[in-house]
Amino acid sequence: MTTAAQISLVNDLASQVSEVVTDELSLLAASTDRSGSVAAGLPLAVVRAHSIADVQAAMRVASAHRVPVVPRGAGAGHLVVDLSAMDRILELDPVDEIAVVEPGVLNARLDAAAAEVGLRYAPDPASAAICSIGGNVATNAGGLRCVKYGVTREAVLGLDVVLADGTLIHTGRRTMKGVAGLDLTALFVGSEGTLGIVVGATLRLKPRPVSTLTASAAYASVAAAARACAEIAAARRLPSMLEFIDRRCLEAVDRFAGTRYAERGDALVIAQADGPAAATEIEAIAAILGKEATWIEQGVDEESSDRLVETRRQVLPAIEAEGSWFIEDICVPRSRLAEAVDRISEISDRHGVRTYTLAHAGDGNLHPVIGWDPSPDDVPGVMPPAETAAGDEIFALAIELGGTTTGEHGVGRLKQKWLEPEIGADSIDLQHRIKAALDPLGILNPGVGF
Ligand SMILES: Cc1cc2nc3c(=O)[nH]c(=O)nc-3n(C[C@H](O)[C@H](O)[C@H](O)COP(=O)(O)OP(=O)(O)OC[C@H]3O[C@@H](n4cnc5c(N)ncnc54)[C@H](O)[C@@H]3O)c2cc1C
Repeated sequence: MTTAAQISLVNDLASQVSEVVTDELSLLAASTDRSGSVAAGLPLAVVRAHSIADVQAAMRVASAHRVPVVPRGAGAGHLVVDLSAMDRILELDPVDEIAVVEPGVLNARLDAAAAEVGLRYAPDPASAAICSIGGNVATNAGGLRCVKYGVTREAVLGLDVVLADGTLIHTGRRTMKGVAGLDLTALFVGSEGTLGIVVGATLRLKPRPVSTLTASAAYASVAAAARACAEIAAARRLPSMLEFIDRRCLEAVDRFAGTRYAERGDALVIAQADGPAAATEIEAIAAILGKEATWIEQGVDEESSDRLVETRRQVLPAIEAEGSWFIEDICVPRSRLAEAVDRISEISDRHGVRTYTLAHAGDGNLHPVIGWDPSPDDVPGVMPPAETAAGDEIFALAIELGGTTTGEHGVGRLKQKWLEPEIGADSIDLQHRIKAALDPLGILNPGVGF
C-alpha cells in the first residue's frame, strides 16, 4: 500500500471509530502472537474498538479500501481490530444459567464472575487468564474440563457478529433449545476470524461443582497408563479431567522444579471427578487407576488435590526452560491413544528428535511438544529440518489413526498443508464458497484457516 493510501485509510478510520493508533510500539505489539509465526512487517493501523459500532465502521472502511483485517492477531499490511477494550459482562443470569458478554472478556474473569452466583464457565484453556471469549469462540478452544463439559462450541448459544461489509447479525438464541434456521452459530465457532468478527456472545454456564476430587497414578509403561484411561471410559465413569504425561515431561518437571516424579514410572495419569457424586466417582476411578499402577495418590482436600494437578501445570514451563519448542495438537480416537503415544516416540527416536508428550487422555487429544536446542540458524516460527520431518510424520499419523491434525488450536497459518489430506478437496472447495458468500473481498484474516 502506498503512503498516500495508508494516510487516507487512517484518516477515514479516525473520522469513524473511537480510537485508531499507528505508533510503532502499538503496531509492533499487535504484530506478535504466541504461535511463533512472525509477520513480514507491521500492521497499517490498530483500531481499538470500544463498541459494536466501532467494529462495523472499521469493517466498512476496510471494505472500501480493500484492506485485509485481522481481529487481534498479527500481519503485515493489515488493519488490526483490537477487541480487548470491549470487555463488559453485560448479563449473568443465574436462573437461565447464561452470560451475555463482549468479546474482550477474559475467560478466567467470566468464570470468576459466574462463581459468585454458584455457576462456572466450563471451557478452560490453559491460557484462561490471558485469552478472550472472542478468541475462544474463534478457535473453538478446549481445555482440561472438556472431557466432561465439552469444548467452547457446547457453551455458545448465540453470537453477535460483524460481517466483512460491516453488517451486524445475531445468530442463535438465549434458550437451551432452538432449531429455527441454519445453525450459523456453529458455523462461526472455530472459524478463526475468517467469516466475521465476534462482537458479543451468549454463553451457557454450568452449576459450579460442590466438590472436586483428584487421583493420580504412575505406570511402568505408556501402554499400562493408556489401558487405565481406556478402562475408565469402558466402565462408564465420567471424569471431569483425565490427563496423561509421559516420562520425558516428568523428567523435565524434575529438572525444573527439583521433584522426583520420573522415579515413579514411565507415565503419569491425573484424574478428577466433580459434582455431588464426586466421592463415589473418584473412588471408582482410583480403583481402576490402581490396578496396574506403580504409585497412586488421592487428594484428600483441595490443597492436596491441587498439588497433584500442579505436576500437569508445570509441564509447559519446564519444557520452555529447556530450549526452543513447538506444541503440536493432534487428536485421535481414545481407543488409539496408546498406539499414538508409542508411534510418536518411535518417530521421534528415528529422527533423533526430543519430543515430550502430554495428552488430554479423556478426549484422545495429544500435545506432543517437539523441543530443540536454540541455534543461530533458527528461523522464527520454523522448526529445524529433523524436527519438521518428525512433526510431519506425527500429523500423518493422526490422520492414519482416524484422527485430526488439530484438536483445539486451529489450522491457522501453520497447518494448512494438512487440511486437504484430512478433510478432502471437495470439503475445502465448499468452505471457500461459504467464505466467498460471507466475505466476498476476502479481507477477513486472509491466509488463515482454509
Ligand atoms: C500458554 C497457552 C496455552 C494455551 N492452552 C490452550 C488450551 O489448553 N486449549 C486450547 O484450546 N487452546 C489453548 N491455547 C490456544 C488458544 O486457542 C488461545 O489461547 C485462545 O483460545 C485464543 O484466544 P485469544 O484471546 O488469545 O485470541 P487471539 O490469539 O487474539 O486470536 C486467536 C484467533 O482468533 C481470531 N479472533 C480473536 N478474537 C476474535 C473475534 N472477536 N472475532 C473473530 N475472530 C477473533 C484471531 O484473528 C486469531 O485468528 C493456548 C495458548 C497459549 C498461549
